[in-house]
Amino acid sequence: HAKSSGGSQYRFFSKELNASIQRMVDMEASLRRAFDENEFYVAYQPQIDIESGATIGAEALVRWNSKEYGIVSPADFIPLAEQTGLILKLGQWVLEEACREAKRWERAGRTSLTISVNVSAKQFKQPDFVDIVKGILHSTGLNPAKLCIEITESVVIDKLMFTLKLLDELAAMGIGISIDDFGTGYSSLSLLRQLPISMIKIDKSFVAEMVEERSVRAVVAAMITMTHHLGITVVAEGIESEQQMAWLREMGCDKGQGYYIDKPLSAERMQARLKETPAITKITS
Ligand code: C2E
Ligand code: MG
Ligand code: MG
Ligand code: MG
Repeated sequence: HAKSSGGSQYRFFSKELNASIQRMVDMEASLRRAFDENEFYVAYQPQIDIESGATIGAEALVRWNSKEYGIVSPADFIPLAEQTGLILKLGQWVLEEACREAKRWERAGRTSLTISVNVSAKQFKQPDFVDIVKGILHSTGLNPAKLCIEITESVVIDKLMFTLKLLDELAAMGIGISIDDFGTGYSSLSLLRQLPISMIKIDKSFVAEMVEERSVRAVVAAMITMTHHLGITVVAEGIESEQQMAWLREMGCDKGQGYYIDKPLSAERMQARLKETPAITKITS
């Protein structure tokens, strides 16, 4: 009896699994075509200085508007792009597009804005990654100090010596290095001390759980204090309410992004937002 029910359960999962594999295969084919069909675009999520509320830049987030699947989340297609190697071409395109856009903001008079770009493990481990970045900065004319590269903890931990050398080269060029989804992986204090990190991004899961859990608020406060002691800037992601914003402000969190501030915007809407919110120059007496 048990055996037969186990058997049907197996068939059930196997059917599900087949369907999901088939979907992956189909999606992979679409993904390969997507590049030539211009189905990708970059959205920009504004980042603010928590204390003054001034817009300080944006994070570039790739979007896939697929003919077959509609808008597909990067959480679904980035892993697929990594597996197929398409991430190299796609990642380079996003980087170039984002740098070109940031240069437009600069030409429009917003000279202090930064652009943060996510870089995946495969992309980062290309032997000529530094040259690719240099080439893009050169062709777009963007000041390296306006670019921030976001990598995750797992990228850093795997091949530490290689990463250290690479990050040192990028940092020497003036590029900012940010640890994305901080707190979800295995970063240690010593890692933060060894690497030329300019920023950490507290993962949105912590920001979400702050609301219900006092203990999570304590953890976030400790993360901010610790990171500040190392001279590193703290960004909170996924801020969705005034309450979260108030807590983070009180904890001394430097920068923030999230739906409470703004959603990821098209390039045009980001430009419009920048026109509506002129640069704030702090007057100190
Ligand atoms: P991430 O870098 O941690 O980006 C933050 C994600 O949180 C984005 O999801 C953003 O749209 C979402 N988000 C922003 N504000 C809020 C909020 O208030 N609440 C909630 N719940 N979510 C918020 P998105 O755009 O779906 O991107 C997912 C992930 O895909 C990114 O996570 C990043 O790891 C990856 N990704 C996106 N663009 C690129 C890219 O160009 N290259 C690479 N390699 N990865 C990318
Ligand atoms: Mg990111
Ligand atoms: Mg993040
Ligand atoms: Mg995240």
